Amino acid sequence: MRSAPLCLALVLAASSVAAPALAETKTAPHWSYDGKTGPEHWSTLSDAFKACGSGTSQSPIDIHPGKAAPLSKLDLHYTFGPKDIVNNGHTVQADVADGNTLTLDGKTYTLAQFHFHTPSENHIKGVAFPMEVHFVNKAADGSLAVLAVMVKRGKANPDLAALFAKTPKAGAAPAAFSDAAFDITKLLPADGKYYRFSGSLTTPPCTEGVSWLVMEKPITASEKQISAFHKFYKHNNRPLQQSTGRDITAFED
Ligand SMILES: [Zn+2]
Repeated sequence: MRSAPLCLALVLAASSVAAPALAETKTAPHWSYDGKTGPEHWSTLSDAFKACGSGTSQSPIDIHPGKAAPLSKLDLHYTFGPKDIVNNGHTVQADVADGNTLTLDGKTYTLAQFHFHTPSENHIKGVAFPMEVHFVNKAADGSLAVLAVMVKRGKANPDLAALFAKTPKAGAAPAAFSDAAFDITKLLPADGKYYRFSGSLTTPPCTEGVSWLVMEKPITASEKQISAFHKFYKHNNRPLQQSTGRDITAFED
């Protein structure tokens, strides 16, 4: 745990800079999923975290699509797997090599990392899942698109087994990862239907303007694999946020 004086120094450092584009920065003050630094307190922990309390299109949400549109498949080119795995105290995160892209409305986003939440943060029509994977994609102008995939109990997923076997202890140095058998596409459902809406980062600073793409169909993981993740994190999900007035489109057949 950080000492109190260091935490204060970090708060001061964070408030003197513009809101960072991504949740994880060296200057962010301590936050958590429980107690005095838990989600209901995030907005008070730093001026940079204000959006967590005052934002109007926050994530996650319970997805109830308001309209449907013909399926236009996501322009997704994910090929390269993780280069290292970080256990940052909030989640298990796999940093990937450059070259995985998502093109949305003519803009190209590059996959920076993917990470896990348990239970799922977003719900689909009132249903929560045991886990949710977030693929964080960033465009050259700094805008973000998060591709989310739900995980339900079922067949084992070899990618997850490989990742969780190599995950270091919380706070330890990132573990290098090179596994020729790892296939990033195995973390995506075969079915291409998805929901799209605007939201925010689900972790401080809760920055809005994030394009959310949530795959309608889940992938599976075995009970053993879900338990393996629970050894790192029992729960690391932000509670549901208001979705009132939000345009949610289902892209399906
Ligand atoms: Zn996330």
